[in-house]
Amino acid sequence: MMKGAVSDLTKAIGHTPIVKLNKVARDVESDIFVKCEYLNPGGSHKDRMALNMIEDAERHGLKPGGYIVEATSGNTGASLAMIAAIRGYKCVFVMPDKMSQEKIAGLRAFGARVVVCPTAVEADDPRSYYQTAKRIANELAPNCFYANQYHNPANPEGQYKSLGPEIWDQCGKELDVFCAGMGTGGTLTGAGGFLKEKNAKIKLVGVDPIGSLYYDFVKSGRITKPFSYKVEGIGEDFFPSTMNLKLLDDIVRVDDKECFLMTRDLVRLEGLTVGGSGGAAVAGAVKYARSSGRKENILVCLADTSSKYMSKIFNDDWMRENGFLEEEKGLGIVADLIKGQHNLVTATSTEKVRDVIEKLKTKGISQVPVVDGGKLIGIVAEVDLLRHLVSGSGTLDSPVGPLVEGDYATVSPDTKIELLQNAMTDAKLAIVLDHGNVVGLVTKIDLIEFLAKRSSVA
Ligand code: PMP
Repeated sequence: MMKGAVSDLTKAIGHTPIVKLNKVARDVESDIFVKCEYLNPGGSHKDRMALNMIEDAERHGLKPGGYIVEATSGNTGASLAMIAAIRGYKCVFVMPDKMSQEKIAGLRAFGARVVVCPTAVEADDPRSYYQTAKRIANELAPNCFYANQYHNPANPEGQYKSLGPEIWDQCGKELDVFCAGMGTGGTLTGAGGFLKEKNAKIKLVGVDPIGSLYYDFVKSGRITKPFSYKVEGIGEDFFPSTMNLKLLDDIVRVDDKECFLMTRDLVRLEGLTVGGSGGAAVAGAVKYARSSGRKENILVCLADTSSKYMSKIFNDDWMRENGFLEEEKGLGIVADLIKGQHNLVTATSTEKVRDVIEKLKTKGISQVPVVDGGKLIGIVAEVDLLRHLVSGSGTLDSPVGPLVEGDYATVSPDTKIELLQNAMTDAKLAIVLDHGNVVGLVTKIDLIEFLAKRSSVA
């Protein structure tokens, strides 16, 4: 072996640099650093977990010539395909249709078969990409490994064994906060879990796109209505068992526009060729830093690379068409819509059914957000009260707390109306949260009225 060479590309996984941000985070007191995981040979942090998952499958009997099947948003596929090429496996990948063409072409370049499935179906729908992957894996059994990154403990274990120790070696006691986008949880649960074991004072901050389930669940314990967004690789519409939300110290929410503008800034101002989830994670870290009130060393994981998003984030036409460029006014933001609303009505969970019925009647509304000590608990709607009274055991004097439900989506005052529209296709209503406080409620008819008024003015 030649000195300085590695025996194959898997030995070149990891050893990624940590770099200080000098421009995009200048207005915060904390120092923000980035872990350049996009410099891994397969183009993302997923190289680490893919190697661990394949080695685990080999220990369980996977033989060269066998198949690797996975439901993937692209990066896990790229890492699996790279290692499969080296070790002699065949790959079949199932992807949601929102993924960029570069990602699909990139997988096919390794010789993988790619099956594209609709995004706009429930996770348990037979057409969803998770269910399709499962079916194909069953058809190809037995010399087939279904990587199942959302439920395979070898995913977080890969980050626990590789990314976590590497960060600890590079940062040690000087690290205060580790911040990463929330997908399967491999990064936060695995690498974050390792860091916390080394130093329990290290805080873990998750970054979640608006439309995903994680944020509301962490903040209120409610499973709200997910809706679609453009940033790839982070946020979920179900709960993967590889994500341990209990480890999180904080969670920050970001929208597509801020993710993509930050992604472009990271490339143009810092030279960091990152993808959309890297922009999301940095935008989230900056928000966290602004609200933390302390000077901390924050390390942000930059998962994948710009080259996978040339036709989207780095294409001005695509950015403009989607209303992500600054000059685009679009339909406005949620703050414009709720400006005209006054006296938001809420209830507390100890309020009696009788009093809440009275509130709905006198205010002429069909549901109220339930808020305890400033924290949103959920909503109570006419139909919940009706069900309670019809059930026989329910009385007018019962508290409304147990009747609270999660049939709503949450948005922020700066959420674009176009995105609100997505949120309302599935959810009964949207609750507007500003730094965790309920500041408004939007029903479908509110949105219709707002749009109708806008088009009559235009
Ligand atoms: N960013 C990108 C681009 C990804 O593909 C993923 C994985 N889905 C993540 C971030 C999140 O990483 P993890 O699955 O380890 O939570």
